[in-house]
Amino acid sequence: MKPKIYTLESVAVDGELGPRTSETKRSTCDSCGVSRPIVPRYSSIEYLFDTWSGSHIISGVKSLFVSSELKDVMLLEKVSEVGFSKIQVTKREYFEIDSAVGIDEMPAFFYVNVLRRDVDCVSKIYDVTICEVCKNKKWELKVDGLDFLIKGVSAKKEKEKLEIVHDSWKGEDIFYCESHNTPIITEKFLSCIKKLNYKDLALGSAIWV
Ligand SMILES: [Zn+2]
Repeated sequence: MKPKIYTLESVAVDGELGPRTSETKRSTCDSCGVSRPIVPRYSSIEYLFDTWSGSHIISGVKSLFVSSELKDVMLLEKVSEVGFSKIQVTKREYFEIDSAVGIDEMPAFFYVNVLRRDVDCVSKIYDVTICEVCKNKKWELKVDGLDFLIKGVSAKKEKEKLEIVHDSWKGEDIFYCESHNTPIITEKFLSCIKKLNYKDLALGSAIWV
């Protein structure tokens, strides 16, 4: 079965990661210069809220948070290969809930720990080879890679579709490809998001190959 997939380009940003967030240590290969894990992992997370727009899904830098309600929906629908971590919620002095929300209390939020981070995609930007030292993938800009990179960010025409290698996917409803920054989600997770309030949801196209 091949579900519809999308890249999750952005969702509401109601604040930022706070100073009490700590990333687990990354290691950098001397030969290829790639630091891993590519998408950071955290040992503790603080989200510093400026406001709450009413969205049950919010994003930080390469991180995603869901409300307890959305977490429950995801568990009920069996959205696969995610874990949930407690976070420390801090509110700025001037914090307020958007008056349009109509609720006085903000729900609890959880960090979405995306477990699978190395599904393969076909990159029009990079050539993928294996580093002889660390034995992991490394990426080199293709001859016309810069063209695609620029088109990707300034696309007025149809945007590039991210091509995901179906054989490398094992049914995860949220996952990363190592050479792509944003998470890729299936229609199942998207339908969970759409059951509750969300703000500023921007999706990109992804297709199976
Ligand atoms: Zn290496």
